[in-house]
Amino acid sequence: MARCAVESCGRWRPDLFVRRGVGARVDGRWFCSRACIELMARERLSAGKPFAAGLPSVPPVRLGTLLAARGVCDSASLSRALEAQRESGLKLGEQLQAMGAADKQTVLTALATQFGVRCLPAFDPATVRHAPGGLSREAVRALRIAPISDPLEGRVRVASPAPVRRRALGALRQLTGWTLEVYLVTDEDWTAILAHYGADPRQDAARPQPEFVRTTSVADAAARIAAAASRGRQATVIEARWEDHAWIRVQGPDVMEDVCLALPEGPSPITEEAPWPAATTSR
Ligand SMILES: [Zn+2]
Repeated sequence: MARCAVESCGRWRPDLFVRRGVGARVDGRWFCSRACIELMARERLSAGKPFAAGLPSVPPVRLGTLLAARGVCDSASLSRALEAQRESGLKLGEQLQAMGAADKQTVLTALATQFGVRCLPAFDPATVRHAPGGLSREAVRALRIAPISDPLEGRVRVASPAPVRRRALGALRQLTGWTLEVYLVTDEDWTAILAHYGADPRQDAARPQPEFVRTTSVADAAARIAAAASRGRQATVIEARWEDHAWIRVQGPDVMEDVCLALPEGPSPITEEAPWPAATTSR
């Protein structure tokens, strides 16, 4: 006999039924119904650590110090730029460029040094039209990271605008198992990458692209995870979080779906929401 993994349900079913495809196995545990998978998913999403705050953007003084140390600009033009920045609202690098105190290439190189990544000064966005790495356009948009090469022995080159989001990189690494080589690109190149990535996908019917569903509600995310897992009958659910996102991949022999839970702004509804729906408290 198999027992449903949701404790408050605890329904038993003969093994024969389970083998015939009643319910579904998720991460090796058996669930009697889609509703029970949904409860599990909801609990899991709610029980996760609250989303970490975003990493701070580039500390202006540090970039300035770096530029000054390289002899790119002196302390006088640096303090003029910091002053002007308060009015203009530009990033320090942009401000220095606007004032003619530093060129784009120098700023990009300094930023790359600051983030400990390489930089890609010139980039032909046409090279990402076939969606290297096979991410969906929505995934690239949500992560602010785009693969710019196909995986080669597990290594993938990715482009990122500043600031480099380490948690998003961690999430991508976790879900794909790739080793990432990160290249910083200018904001203009990033805009071009967003416009071109996956615009002309390779027709590869053997490996369909995972669906990537964006949602802002925990309940909706749990329902989609449950729908995908019960459709697949057998699935594993892996999850990666960064800043205000949770990316959940449901995969199995017959299913591959990405659910991206994005929290628009303000305090996380995950921590505010009652962690358990009323139904699960009845025993
Ligand atoms: Zn159940």
